[in-house]
Amino acid sequence: MTRVLLKLSGEALMGASPFGIDLPTTREYAREIAECARDGASIAIVVGGGNIFRGMAGAAKGMDRASADYMGMLATVMNSLAVAQALRDAGVAARPMSAIPMESICETYTRYRADEYLKSGEIVVLGGGTGSPFFTTDSTAALRAAELGCSAILKATQVDGVYDSDPKTNPAATRFETLTYGEVLARDLRVMDSAAIALARDSGIPIIVFDIHRDGALADVLAGRGRFTRVAG
Ligand code: UDP
Repeated sequence: MTRVLLKLSGEALMGASPFGIDLPTTREYAREIAECARDGASIAIVVGGGNIFRGMAGAAKGMDRASADYMGMLATVMNSLAVAQALRDAGVAARPMSAIPMESICETYTRYRADEYLKSGEIVVLGGGTGSPFFTTDSTAALRAAELGCSAILKATQVDGVYDSDPKTNPAATRFETLTYGEVLARDLRVMDSAAIALARDSGIPIIVFDIHRDGALADVLAGRGRFTRVAG
């Protein structure tokens, strides 16, 4: 794997907190990501915003969905600033970029600039989702992975792969080593939302679902070791 797209959900940044950004947890991820970058991996990160605001939650309380989604996208920009800062603190060059222009805060995402930064060894931290409401950051991850020519989408989660039922409540739950995109969609396995799965399938980009909390997990996944589920054609 040379260039990869890492999807970090907002939830992952919460750590044990009920809400928001847990800085020690964020710094731990950053240390691990920085180590992989120093070892030669080219990494684009798409960050979620569910730790701060989800459009659906706003819409459920009566907000206009599009406005609620814009709030969600703003939340992802906050997370991208926190992740980029933590990466810089960990000693690597990292650049937050937003799909929605906000020039005094961070650079606006363009494929060309992101590609240039990646080529020069910087980590790009992509906030603002796709820039459009009615999408998710999972779809953003698939979209950016396709346009930036990433060889895989690494979906960081709280468990070491995709199971046939919830391993937290069912001790007999079985983990899949591999799945096809079609199986994920047909069985509604909720690896990522269906738009993201379809886009990854159409672009032929494998999705690796792994547990970001385990020490060394990212390095292992990059080396093709350890426990994870691989979704491919
Ligand atoms: N969002 C959006 N368009 C996008 C990406 C995200 O409108 O292209 C909004 C949407 O409201 C979403 C919120 O941003 O709920 C946060 O993103 P997401 O729920 O994907 O974050 P995660 O679950 O990964 O933390």
